[in-house]
Amino acid sequence: MFADHLEEIRINGIKASPGICIGKAYMVDQEGVDIVERYYIDKQHRSKEVKRFKAAVRKAIDELNEIITNAPEEFQQHTGIIETHMVLLKDKMLYDKTIQLIEAEGINAEWALKRIVAGLKSMFRNISDTYLRERTADIEQVSDRIMRNLVGADKVNIGAIDKRVILVARDLSPAETSQIQLERIKGFITDRGGQASHTGIIARTLEIPAVVGLRNATRLINNEDLLAVDGTNGVVVIHPSDNTLVEFEERQQRYEDYLTLITRESHHRAETPDGHYVPVMGNIELSEEVVSVRDHGGEGIGLYRTEFQYLSRSEFPTEDELFDKYREVVEVMAPLPVSIRTLDINGDKAIGANGNDEEPNPALGLRAIRYCLKNPELFKTQLKAILRAAVYGNVRIIFPLISNTQEVEDAQKLLQEAADELDRTGVPYNGDIEAGIMVEVPSAVILAEELAKMVDFFSIGTNDLIQYAFAIDRGNQNVAHMYQPLHPAIMRLLKQVADAARNNHIGVYMCGEMAGDPYFVPVLLGLGIQELSMNPLSIPAVKRVIRAIEADEAKKFVNQALQETDVKRITAMVEESYGSILAKQIYKA
Ligand code: PEP
Ligand code: MG
Repeated sequence: MFADHLEEIRINGIKASPGICIGKAYMVDQEGVDIVERYYIDKQHRSKEVKRFKAAVRKAIDELNEIITNAPEEFQQHTGIIETHMVLLKDKMLYDKTIQLIEAEGINAEWALKRIVAGLKSMFRNISDTYLRERTADIEQVSDRIMRNLVGADKVNIGAIDKRVILVARDLSPAETSQIQLERIKGFITDRGGQASHTGIIARTLEIPAVVGLRNATRLINNEDLLAVDGTNGVVVIHPSDNTLVEFEERQQRYEDYLTLITRESHHRAETPDGHYVPVMGNIELSEEVVSVRDHGGEGIGLYRTEFQYLSRSEFPTEDELFDKYREVVEVMAPLPVSIRTLDINGDKAIGANGNDEEPNPALGLRAIRYCLKNPELFKTQLKAILRAAVYGNVRIIFPLISNTQEVEDAQKLLQEAADELDRTGVPYNGDIEAGIMVEVPSAVILAEELAKMVDFFSIGTNDLIQYAFAIDRGNQNVAHMYQPLHPAIMRLLKQVADAARNNHIGVYMCGEMAGDPYFVPVLLGLGIQELSMNPLSIPAVKRVIRAIEADEAKKFVNQALQETDVKRITAMVEESYGSILAKQIYKA
């Protein structure tokens, strides 16, 4: 009798993919990977130990190859991520360094691998960019795979699960996630991972609810436990009570009805009732995500973050490799625009073996355009790949982190040089593309009038603009409460950028997170932002809200809001004027 009334436990994690599901837990973890022994290998046995390590890596590569070969049609778009893991397995920093440690110090393979991975992880942890920082997950996942082969632990075979379950794991690699059979797996939850983890990206593409970063889910949950998962809010309920179950079921039903409705609508243009057309586009990190943008009604790519291809490798990607990826995206979206942002990396740490000295304050260091201007050959390689891809569709180029006019001049000069070099070699390219800048540093806002005379468009990056305006680290939880897009300080910055763009007849777009929150749509329309770009899943809801807001009224509203000096008052004004319209259009599970 008591077994039926186990106490309900609620745990909070990071929302990785929205939606709700209820079902039995299926633990996919295997024992033995965490606890590794350390022992000494004497000199004459070290080459055998190295061979054992190499065999474990080879087996891991074979396993991934098999997963790619057997991946069903709908997962073919994700094989790029798995291929990246195959490259990582042989990465110099991981593979060569582990072998060196075995040979030099006589440490057994498991312990050597563990030590190298710990070093890599602490290096990655110092990176300011959240997306890059979370690539630690990739390193952990490939090392887990090698470790499993070393200790002989069973591998997870998600493809063989034949029940309708919710997966519970310490972590799931992209390879494992891609084996998920949609008709069986309702959702998944993990101890590790962040919002920008690849596993999260795949879950969003598969459109199954997922919560990650729960820390101790695998300790609290047993096989077959009943779970209610809320991927929209990042909540997991273990042993849900009858009341919770009813509540979750109702929300699940309403959310699914709402999704069906807005996804159907999202393939139409988003026009305000008074006839203002606002193109709504998607942000992507990987070429694979372009499908999700199209499926959610995105009218182009407003931000293609190109960092991923430079990561976790000892060599920079070649012009041809970059060109292939860009061309893929450009062709899928043509004739719609693809805005390729040049490398925005705090290069020294993230770019494998080519590291410079560590910087004490990377967000204020040699990041993005600063890094590229210091490394003109690396920059031109990318610029050439972009110009070549532009032959196949509608390409725009965006320079990130611009803080003065000189950087724009220098970047444009290198773009011209890249075109000239292509001319000389006779490779086809299209030099007639729009070039714009990210406006995400306060000095660029102050110089907006001057910068607007030099470029074709502004794309406002609110993630960094807010970070630098308030002097708050965007990844630091302690100051997260100061991240206020409606703050008068931010509203005035945005107004200044929009006005400068209008005065100089150039485009003004937004691709920071602010653009993807339907709640901010009235303000953005009122400010005159002409295009919005966001996480693909947000596109339908933002389009829906645009269709409900009069642009002219929003303009008057923003002019009034700009008189205010208190963020609370502006927030209250949005609520008073638009609260009921927004509540009618947006349903959050
Ligand atoms: C931004 O800063 O708002 C932005 C879109 O760029 P990222 O998040 O890649 O820094
Ligand atoms: Mg930015």
